[in-house]
Amino acid sequence: MKNCIFCRIIAGESPARIIHEDEHLLVFHDTQPQAPIHLLLVPKKHLARIQDLTPTDKELMGHLLYTASSVAKNLGLQQNGYRLVINNGRYGGQAVFHLHLHLLGGRPMHWPPG
Ligand code: 5GP
Ligand code: ZN
Repeated sequence: MKNCIFCRIIAGESPARIIHEDEHLLVFHDTQPQAPIHLLLVPKKHLARIQDLTPTDKELMGHLLYTASSVAKNLGLQQNGYRLVINNGRYGGQAVFHLHLHLLGGRPMHWPPG
């Protein structure tokens, strides 16, 4: 997708502080971190929103969550915990319409999120 910032990062056309890459995912630091550790786990496949998922994406979404858990473990976040967030659609607070998972850690989080 030409006008998608995350597709541009995946294509290597925009810079990012990448910490993990595999066949299906790219993981990089958020440019406006909301916690001491704030990563974005981004499927390489452009899917705008959760509701665009099809049954063929089930494995990808499992891989996304599993990768979040292993990245968090590698960063030493396991003991204190961390938060995983998907903002979906306008009311969900989504700003970049390329499906992604936020991994936030390094401080206590509050609930409700507001
Ligand atoms: P959303 O509200 O869509 O879930 O969050 C999008 C996130 O992407 C925001 O936290 C924002 O700071 C981050 N972001 C937006 N543009 C860029 C960018 O060009 N590079 C990186 N690394 N993060 C970005
Ligand atoms: Zn995209």
